[in-house]
Amino acid sequence: MVPNGDHMTLGCCNHRKYMPVAKHLYSDHVIMETLQWILTHLVCHTCFKRHEKLHRCGQCKFAHYCDRTCQKDAWMNHKTECSAIKKRGVAPNENIRLAARILWRIEREGGGLTEGCLVSIDSLQNHVEHFGEEEKKELRMDLESFLEFWPPESKQFGMQYISHILGVINCNGFTLSDQRGLQAVGVGIFPNLCLVNHDCWPNCTVIFNNGNHEAVRSMFHTQMRIELRVLSKISVGEELTVSYIDFLNVSEDRKQQLKKQYYFDCTCEHCQKGIKDDLMLALKEGNEKPSQEVVKEVIQFSKETMKKVDKARSDGVYHEVVKLCRECLTRQEPVLGETNIYLLRILSILSEVLSYLQLFNEASGYSKQMVDGYLKLYHPKNAQLGMALMRAGVTHWHAGLIEAGHGMLCKAYAILLVTHGPTHPITKDLEAMRVQSEMELRMFQQNEFMYYQMREAALKNQKIQMMPEPTNEPSVGLFQKKQ
Ligand SMILES: [Zn+2]
Ligand SMILES: [Zn+2]
Ligand SMILES: [Zn+2]
Repeated sequence: MVPNGDHMTLGCCNHRKYMPVAKHLYSDHVIMETLQWILTHLVCHTCFKRHEKLHRCGQCKFAHYCDRTCQKDAWMNHKTECSAIKKRGVAPNENIRLAARILWRIEREGGGLTEGCLVSIDSLQNHVEHFGEEEKKELRMDLESFLEFWPPESKQFGMQYISHILGVINCNGFTLSDQRGLQAVGVGIFPNLCLVNHDCWPNCTVIFNNGNHEAVRSMFHTQMRIELRVLSKISVGEELTVSYIDFLNVSEDRKQQLKKQYYFDCTCEHCQKGIKDDLMLALKEGNEKPSQEVVKEVIQFSKETMKKVDKARSDGVYHEVVKLCRECLTRQEPVLGETNIYLLRILSILSEVLSYLQLFNEASGYSKQMVDGYLKLYHPKNAQLGMALMRAGVTHWHAGLIEAGHGMLCKAYAILLVTHGPTHPITKDLEAMRVQSEMELRMFQQNEFMYYQMREAALKNQKIQMMPEPTNEPSVGLFQKKQ
């Protein structure tokens, strides 16, 4: 994070002249993390993977784990928390539990720097002085619930220090997602990561790897960790940067978002020069330019539609979402250019929801339009771009468009190898799909007729694997910050 605008660089790695692209620069074992409240019975409290069947902690009945390995790994951090939850009967929210875990760790090990840690939690920014009235009120409420939760037999900390920890979590808490990357499920504090500054067009990316302890003896064994990964060649002395937010907003809006959530003014090259702003607001090319009036109207209509769509989506009324998006598209298409972000947002939702409703043919067309736009806007090695290509590839595959589908899965794979790394569960899923679609493609090329016959037979016998339910999350920032 940006400590008062001071730019800091992570030392050692900058000295190497040529960094192999797919190799991660730096990885950190998870320092401290907790799970979102509503998900506590759906996601493992150690590795943050979603599982059908989880084992419950017999003591507090609150924590859930994949298996004994995950439970054992959790015990050191869970022990004191377990008895506090048991005593109180209920568990407080994830920020409070995270603060408690941090303070218990300080009680156990002291607050100093541990090995491999470049910055202590004490010296991280809390930005409490920038808080508005609403945020101050929330902080007071968090403090109250913390004090209720904190057991009298544990070491007692001053109010100011507890506020500092809560403030640090508020602006430096890193969003953790489940193994499929579809949902933000928890929050963690990784002090070293907080040293990496933001750039809207960064040279690194951060990814949470849930790890794979099941494969202990194989090459796939990975420990749960946070990874800072390099996106392109970095020259000596160049600062390492990551993007805290999604790039698909015009520079003015990104700057506003960063100021509001992270309290700094972005002065990155893309913001200063407004690079790609013109593409993001592109208008339909043709003989007649649409008038300013019409453009304004369409954008206003798009914004209103988005609000209605969000509501319908969170209510789970997907046919309404489809209707609203189709209506909006008919208004947008004669006016907005193919890279216009208002158009792309509608295309993204529409293709996702149509896939969920198994209307793959229609969905595939929209997803193609969407990724074509994304490819012109995003950094070529952007995680969101990779994930969008993967979704579009799967949609095409389901629609029987095997050539296009396979092509997209390959492109997605090339990106995820860099942004997520070869051992990430998502990359491994994608690799399996890529191999499978390649086999089908070969069959298709050898004998088209046979391919369709086999495909039909397969579809009759087994229902197509359900697409995940669309999540209703406004694009989460890198660091979990209350909006
Ligand atoms: Zn687990
Ligand atoms: Zn427990
Ligand atoms: Zn910027």
